[in-house]
Amino acid sequence: ESFLTRLRVTEPSLRSFLHVSDTVLRQAQDLDDRIGRSEEVGPLAGVLVAVKDNICTSDMPSTGGSRVLEGYRPPFDATAVRKIKELGGIVVGKTNLDEFGMGSTTEASAFQVTANPWDISRVPGGSSGGSAAAVSARQCMVSLGSDTGGSVRQPASFCGVVGLKPTYGRVSRFGLMAYASSLDVIGCFGSSVADAGFLLHAISGHDTLDATSSKQEVPDFTSHFTSINLLESKPLKGLRVGLIRETLDEGVDTGVTTAIRGAASHLEELGCSVSEVSLPSFSLGLPAYYILASSESSSNLSRYDGVRYGNQVAADELNALYGDSRANGFGHEVKMRILMGTYALSAGYYDAYYKRAQQVRTIIQKSFKAALDEHDILISPASPSAAYKIGEKRNDPLAMYAGDIMTVNVNLAGLPALVLPCGFVEGGSVGLPVGIQMIGAAFDEGKLLKVGHIFE
Ligand code: GLN
Repeated sequence: ESFLTRLRVTEPSLRSFLHVSDTVLRQAQDLDDRIGRSEEVGPLAGVLVAVKDNICTSDMPSTGGSRVLEGYRPPFDATAVRKIKELGGIVVGKTNLDEFGMGSTTEASAFQVTANPWDISRVPGGSSGGSAAAVSARQCMVSLGSDTGGSVRQPASFCGVVGLKPTYGRVSRFGLMAYASSLDVIGCFGSSVADAGFLLHAISGHDTLDATSSKQEVPDFTSHFTSINLLESKPLKGLRVGLIRETLDEGVDTGVTTAIRGAASHLEELGCSVSEVSLPSFSLGLPAYYILASSESSSNLSRYDGVRYGNQVAADELNALYGDSRANGFGHEVKMRILMGTYALSAGYYDAYYKRAQQVRTIIQKSFKAALDEHDILISPASPSAAYKIGEKRNDPLAMYAGDIMTVNVNLAGLPALVLPCGFVEGGSVGLPVGIQMIGAAFDEGKLLKVGHIFE
């Protein structure tokens, strides 16, 4: 009840949710009754989870933030949602996002702009801005987002919460509306590393409904949260941390650099050895990402044709029905991505763009591998700046894309990364949070959670 009251009070100024469930109290009561009858309830019993609206839920609309799916109600739950429900979690509602995950602010939602709880004149980040704002403002306990190029980590940084992007394949993508299938992952938000870790544990694992989901065993990520002695003086002794040199270059706000350097000293105090490491191909990630993500999206979004799902514009001829339904249903940013992607995949351009971007992707994967052979984790800012004003970058897509420089490489390499608050910069009336990104080797989420838990 207290969370629902909090949600009602804060929602008019934040607009994090596109839909709020009206059965939350009933579900909580049911769980309570079951506990009263000494029945088994899962480890997430009563945990209020908000779910990004590009993740399918059978009992609530799932729009992906797009008019093309306005009113669409999937006949199934995404695997991650099904697992949460089976463990007793309660889905409190569906959160706002940039249309189909394309954006960094939630301004590209077809329905509303979400505000940052730290300063409501600022963006919460994106594309999972609604999920990050909801946890930050305590409208829910934890939430699910999706991360194709930073959409969990950058909003976590902007909203001062923990954001966890798992290894590609760790969590089933079944029921996640595809943006760029080779990069997409479902990720977790929490107000602590432990919260995000418990949620990750609940949703991880192989799924026959997603051919790209991994068969890697899921270790008990949550064991660290109870077994660590936080009073030990150097609990991270021997851990080798690499600070990625290129991420502190020009173009990064000085307040952000200062916070990251402070975090590096804190890691040293905890016993880590911190050294700078160079990833020479780092700046190539951004152009490669935007070519690959747009290319995959131009293919993935062809399914929204006005026939199979969502909104249909009546026409007397089939091609006009497709064309008008799409022209009407998609927003500006999505159309721009489809055009860029279609162009990059066109005969005659394929070699110059898509193929080269794939080659760059291989180079980036190799340079991460080399850096992670020498270090246990790599650290960087999660974003070159703290949250900026709503509208500030709306008419300058390149400036907005450039803000993704810290996160996109990690998706290209498929690695796990954890973002957690590490300081503040001036801004708004109470300062603005800054997040540190910790990157680990594939399937080594456990180490990130352990380091993050001790760090915070
Ligand atoms: N901002 C990036 C983009 O617009 C990343 C989005 C995401 O991770 N879904 O593509």
